[in-house]
Amino acid sequence: MLRPGDVLAAARRVPGVADAIAGPVDTAAALARRDELAGHWHDDGQVEWLEGAGGVLIRGHGRVVGERRVDVAVGDGASVRELEASKAVVLATGSIPAMPPIDGLREMRVWDSRAATSAPRAPERLLVLGGGPVGVELAQAWKRLGTREVTLVDDGPRLVPAFEPFASEQLLDAFTSEGIAVVLGATASRVVRDGDDGPVTLTLDDGRTFTGDELLVATGRDPNTTDVGLDAVGLAPGKPVDVDDQLRATGVDGGWLYAIGDCNGRSLLTHMGKYQARIAADAILHDASITAWADDRAVPAVVFTDPQLATVGLTEASARDQGIAVRVVDHATGEIAGAALLGEGITGTCRLVIDAERGVIVGATFTGPGVGELLHAATIAVVGEVPLDTLWHAVPAFPAVSEVWLRLLEQYGL
Ligand SMILES: Cc1cc2nc3c(=O)[nH]c(=O)nc-3n(C[C@H](O)[C@H](O)[C@H](O)COP(=O)(O)OP(=O)(O)OC[C@H]3O[C@@H](n4cnc5c(N)ncnc54)[C@H](O)[C@@H]3O)c2cc1C
Repeated sequence: MLRPGDVLAAARRVPGVADAIAGPVDTAAALARRDELAGHWHDDGQVEWLEGAGGVLIRGHGRVVGERRVDVAVGDGASVRELEASKAVVLATGSIPAMPPIDGLREMRVWDSRAATSAPRAPERLLVLGGGPVGVELAQAWKRLGTREVTLVDDGPRLVPAFEPFASEQLLDAFTSEGIAVVLGATASRVVRDGDDGPVTLTLDDGRTFTGDELLVATGRDPNTTDVGLDAVGLAPGKPVDVDDQLRATGVDGGWLYAIGDCNGRSLLTHMGKYQARIAADAILHDASITAWADDRAVPAVVFTDPQLATVGLTEASARDQGIAVRVVDHATGEIAGAALLGEGITGTCRLVIDAERGVIVGATFTGPGVGELLHAATIAVVGEVPLDTLWHAVPAFPAVSEVWLRLLEQYGL
């Protein structure tokens, strides 16, 4: 959903190409491609893969009912399949959108992230509640897919607060310049929709009102653990399942219950859930002693807006909070030879957060077009604790944007 607008914006930055591109994104074609990539919202491809790998799929609502035992309500729930694992049960029930306690919200038809990513056409006016990754990505996606008016409301002082402050500021500037209205420090107190399909009005506690045709609620995620039988094994329903570093639920006798992915609350990202899955599988199948730690110390995350925001490890503030002897080096993404090839007006910042005592990188943030692809080098440096004087010999190719690594190391002054 973001890619067509991204390509268009990238092409417009290149002299000689900008004039060759006339007109807006073809929204119908873009959404048709989205549906194709999403398998038209069917899971046949995954089922084929699962069965090919020797797995068996039972469709139904599962609940843990005792040690290594799961009951699955199948069909309309009238029949129950009773399953018993020989070794372990892995909970991977994900997360659900959090619904804030706003007057009227639960009674109105609103968009959650699923509705907002699968809608068949662009609404004329879109209200977005929440300025985290989901809110900002979908605000820009729909604006560039043809929504005339997008207004994003957040109660915090900045967008994407988990990122470095400069990332928030640059995203706000980009949104403002493309006509996405951002209202920060604003608490929503009431939602009213006119009928089921009429306009929806959001009222803030200072009395301001905003009206749209759809309201996307993107105010965070809750663990999907309310009705999965946690109480049967002495755990608290509705809470993230606390796990050890092999993803084994803590407080469950016998160590047979594992929890991976969003439901354990450690790191709500696809790639980190898959990382946890590999570690849990090694522990269960091979009694391996490998433990998960990257989902705490080296989490790579990309917000796929334009500009992209990419981060791994610690921000400057979080490193200082941990008492690290921090040194920060910054370089403008646009001020490297490779960026000139991306066109004119390339903006953004590349930052390394360095533990100056140990001479290693503990965090990195990049902003600018396509910087998500710069991130893995930083992830390797953080995970491998590669000494900066070794990194000096990792020479980036000229004229690639990754030459920014050289500029950052030069500034650090080896
Ligand atoms: C709009 C949006 C954009 C995102 N973009 C990115 C991104 O770009 N990159 C990224 O890394 N992450 C992204 N994420 C996060 C990512 O989607 C999640 O981290 C990931 O899906 C978590 O995987 P999971 O397997 O833990 O849970 P899920 O993918 O939520 O899967 C859980 C599954 O369990 C099933 N289930 C639940 N309860 C039961 C039950 N009782 N019995 C049987 N089955 C049950 C559900 O039906 C579901 O199929 C995004 C999330 C959102 C909402």
